[in-house]
Amino acid sequence: MTQSPVWHPFTQHGLQEPIPLVERAEGAVLYTADGREVIDAISSWWVTTHGHCHPRIVSAIAEQAGKLDQLIFAGWTHEPAEKVARGLLDLLPVSLPHVFFSDSGSTAVEVALKMALGYWHNIGQPRHRILVMQHSYHGDTIGAMSVGERGVFNQAYDKLLFDVGVIPYPYQGAEQATYDALETACRQSDTAAFIVEPLILGAGGMLVYPPEVLREMHAICARHGVLFIADEVMTGWGRTGTLLACEQAGVEPDILCLAKGITGGSMPLAVTLASAAIFDAHYSTDRSKTFYHSSSYTANPIACAAAVANIAMWHDDSVREGLADLCQRQSEGLAKLAQVPGITNTRQCGTIIALDYAVGEGSGYLSNLQPRLLAFFRERDLLIRPLGNTVYLMPPYCITPEQLTTLHDALAEAAGLVAA
Ligand SMILES: *Cc1c(COP(=O)(O)O)cnc(C)c1O
Repeated sequence: MTQSPVWHPFTQHGLQEPIPLVERAEGAVLYTADGREVIDAISSWWVTTHGHCHPRIVSAIAEQAGKLDQLIFAGWTHEPAEKVARGLLDLLPVSLPHVFFSDSGSTAVEVALKMALGYWHNIGQPRHRILVMQHSYHGDTIGAMSVGERGVFNQAYDKLLFDVGVIPYPYQGAEQATYDALETACRQSDTAAFIVEPLILGAGGMLVYPPEVLREMHAICARHGVLFIADEVMTGWGRTGTLLACEQAGVEPDILCLAKGITGGSMPLAVTLASAAIFDAHYSTDRSKTFYHSSSYTANPIACAAAVANIAMWHDDSVREGLADLCQRQSEGLAKLAQVPGITNTRQCGTIIALDYAVGEGSGYLSNLQPRLLAFFRERDLLIRPLGNTVYLMPPYCITPEQLTTLHDALAEAAGLVAA
């Protein structure tokens, strides 16, 4: 077969790693063209919540596709978007009254940053400095990369990334250093906003910190009038055990970013919710105060219909009960994994568990452990993508007890790769 012209994301084609062809998916299982049944342990990159091809979402998409496929959203509107916006205000435990649509987590973050800067600009107090947390990830567009951790992933573009204030990660026992740095940075008169992943830093290594820390960081920002942007692109829609991570800390952000699970993981869609103060700063008869942001597919009706179906599902008690049950099963599995030699730093945040495989200092293992782990899981028909020597499970909520046990067993067995 000739080589595919497809250039895949986060893929080094030179390494010639196999790229499986998936034909269909159902629940937590992917079915490949060569007849394998693969357990999707990471929800197809953190998006699938209720399971692949959920019938309620599939039928909402099918119905909408035959009715209104796409519509310019500047100055026009449609029922699915209106329903998503009202549905979010009704469902979410925050009181942010304005909903701005885009199509990915990265764009939701870009919108959040532009809203924050637009707010300060329009009220006549231009502030430009954005504060970020060490080890953060907020997406791969230039602005989103600017507010994320710098490293090998973005070094080629470093010159284009804007300057930010980096607040140290609140390591256990060192929380005060985080608070002090945040307090000092918030006192600077040009500080516009602080963007943060609530309770767990995803791509940064599944680093978990407690709700009290989130609450304190929010209180510091509020004290200084610095806008608090919660990036719940990954943590939203139940991942942390509650609908939003912020609710565990009783925190009301000024701006909230949601994407990934908003359509149950079926269609690309994102929203950025804003406080009345931020919307009001753009509300005027003066055209220069308009919020100038859009993309062609903003609030695509088919994607919105999928989101409407997802929002409706969150009103069923069974979704939250299933979530609590999954958290419990993950916690039991993790307790056993913590006893396995070669496994360290076991941690959990709601439905997500993570652990590190112990690698000897300077053993050189770190550099090749990741591909070995990847191959190990691939051979067992498990979709698990290690972050260096960190492995995590973030399954769709419909994962069965048997499937989850298979995953926990594989994680234990993989410790043999480092214990040798
Ligand atoms: C995935 C992610 C993003 C980027 O979302 P995309 O839809 O991939 O652009 C932003 N923030 C967080 C916290 C994420 O996990």
